[in-house]
Amino acid sequence: MPEIPSVGLRNGVEMPVLGFGTWPLDEAEAERMVSAALEAGYRLIDTAEEYANERGVGRAIRASGIAPGELFVTTKFNKSGHGVEEAQRACADNLERLGLERIDLLLIHWPNPGHGRYVDAWRGMLRLLEDGTVRAIGVSNFTPEHLQRLIDETGVAPHVNQIQLNPYLPRTEERRFHETHGIVTESWAPIGSGRELLREPVIETIAREHGKTPAQVVLRWHGQLGLVAIPRTTTPSRLPENLDVFDLQLTPEDLDRLATLDRHGAGILDPERFGH
Ligand code: NAP
Repeated sequence: MPEIPSVGLRNGVEMPVLGFGTWPLDEAEAERMVSAALEAGYRLIDTAEEYANERGVGRAIRASGIAPGELFVTTKFNKSGHGVEEAQRACADNLERLGLERIDLLLIHWPNPGHGRYVDAWRGMLRLLEDGTVRAIGVSNFTPEHLQRLIDETGVAPHVNQIQLNPYLPRTEERRFHETHGIVTESWAPIGSGRELLREPVIETIAREHGKTPAQVVLRWHGQLGLVAIPRTTTPSRLPENLDVFDLQLTPEDLDRLATLDRHGAGILDPERFGH
């Protein structure tokens, strides 16, 4: 079984640096793939209310027999959970669907700034952290401006911000802000969501030079930048491939070559306009 390193969140909770993403798997597919992922050694699973697969994820987790303390389950809630009471109710619904007693990391899925209630949702999350329903709290798709508002109005920064991040979108400014405030950056679409990223000649060349696959090069890039990545696959043979990255050391020259892929923000899903 591969040894997956972890990163310590500000409150001392340990989070694996590599996990398994479950969007857009349906309930049955999520159950099948999460079972296979746990078997392959994954210990971080990422789901969400919006994915409508939490029941399948929960079934796979319970069937695995892995002790809760050995697993790191992340889920998220939608705009209807934005509010102090609403966030607590949303979390109770997450728990019911997952069939778990505790969530390791709960995230506000999108800030929905037009709705204007993400600070209240954050206050609700603080209560859930306090009463031990969740071990860590965070957000997703928040900009530094949204994060600054949480900090200014509640005095507490999220433990994690899960954002769209890969070599096309290295999100340098956001990572710097996170670092300043002790927020761990988690990358969604870490290997480009099945589009052209893994066919980039630069990545193919680096992969050939190291005897690794393009996906492994990109996943190692996340690791060397100090990011948590949650690749998704429905191809069972890719589960071990995506974990087998920790013996790879990208050189400073490799990192410079990967930096040339930066698209300077083009293709980012804009949280001012998008959300659910
Ligand atoms: P991703 O993990 O970057 O890419 C998934 C794609 O890569 C699939 O098409 C998969 O194909 C392919 N793939 C996987 N391993 C591969 C390998 N070794 N070689 C070649 N291709 C490979 O994209 P994502 O699913 O968009 O993002 C990951 C997770 O982030 C999601 O599953 C979800 O949990 C989370 N997410 C969060 C948000 C948010 O708003 N917070 C938004 C989107 C996603 P096959 O399935 O055919 O193997």
